[in-house]
Amino acid sequence: MSAAIDIATANPLALVREDLRDFGGYRSARSDRLQGDVWLNANESPWPNLSDREGTLRRYPDPQPQALREALSALYGCAPAQLLAGRGSDEGIDLLVRAVCRPGGDAIVVTTPTFGMYAVSARLHGTRVADVPLREVDGEWRCDFAGVGAAALAQGARLVFLCSPGNPTGALLPSGDISALAQALEGRALVVVDEAYIEFADAPSAVRLIASQPNIVVLRTLSKAHALAAARIGSVIADAGLIEVLRRCQAPYPLPSACTDEALRSLGRDAALQTRTRIATVRSEREALAAALAAIPGVKRAYASRANFVLARFDETQAAFDRLLAAGVVVRDMRALPGLDDALRISIGTPEQNATVLAILRGARA
Ligand SMILES: *Cc1c(COP(=O)(O)O)cnc(C)c1O
Repeated sequence: MSAAIDIATANPLALVREDLRDFGGYRSARSDRLQGDVWLNANESPWPNLSDREGTLRRYPDPQPQALREALSALYGCAPAQLLAGRGSDEGIDLLVRAVCRPGGDAIVVTTPTFGMYAVSARLHGTRVADVPLREVDGEWRCDFAGVGAAALAQGARLVFLCSPGNPTGALLPSGDISALAQALEGRALVVVDEAYIEFADAPSAVRLIASQPNIVVLRTLSKAHALAAARIGSVIADAGLIEVLRRCQAPYPLPSACTDEALRSLGRDAALQTRTRIATVRSEREALAAALAAIPGVKRAYASRANFVLARFDETQAAFDRLLAAGVVVRDMRALPGLDDALRISIGTPEQNATVLAILRGARA
């Protein structure tokens, strides 16, 4: 094999839908990067709305504000050109499916129990979903990496969705296995690592693996550890060429300026410091909650978690759920997911809220 062919197969752009490789996307009023003082090219109002006291909302926002891209790429440890900001990681998932899988064709691989949006995006696109379920070994969730690789090849999957730490399992995936899988699937599929909860894991991000395995794509979000779910700011981090393609598939103005401003404020020094403290609190609360849950009669198992929730199995799941709900505490019923027909997922709250959960569950068995 010649070096030229090697480079071509290693280039993740080769995995983009052939009909989209030279797709320019929508040419917005912002596409031409013109300079001027009087802007009459986008049919915007020349006056702000009376309600818009600051007068900042009458113009379409920058599609990818440089300041946001720089702040996020500094936070995640990549180059700005390797990062696409969008409306939550949910949009990143959808963009990846649409840019890589042919409509009504191709396949993705997921590892259930996992986040539901991978399969939802695939289904909306008419793309098949192959499942290689996680395995439970001695009370720990394990990903069958060999099985995932084999299924991806056998099914002609263009995308593999891994979640680390996993939702709802809380389990972290070994980065060596992620790299090896990506290497095995080079030229065949992108390996997407959804790190919505990595801040709680005290573990390095898969972002650093992209340099040696350019078919790795990482999803990050401000929704969880950064407490900004309503701002809808998620990032796709990948090979710069791939990011270009995803940008062209994205909506013309995906980031409302108010959300960009909030995101930038949240990454400022004081807010970022407080975020770090809160993450530490969540971690210690999580360890305490998992240990205390495991000691409650009627709790069959509380899984070790690297995220901001604990997954637990109950003898009488409905009774536990009802008891919590009657006291006004809403947890996530996981019983519809394969293999979790007795499980609830409990997000880590404030120390007071976590104590309440424990008190209710202890009372339920009294
Ligand atoms: C919450 C969650 C997301 C969604 O993130 P947004 O950035 O809010 O869209 C993505 N992936 C997983 C695994 C999640 O649990």
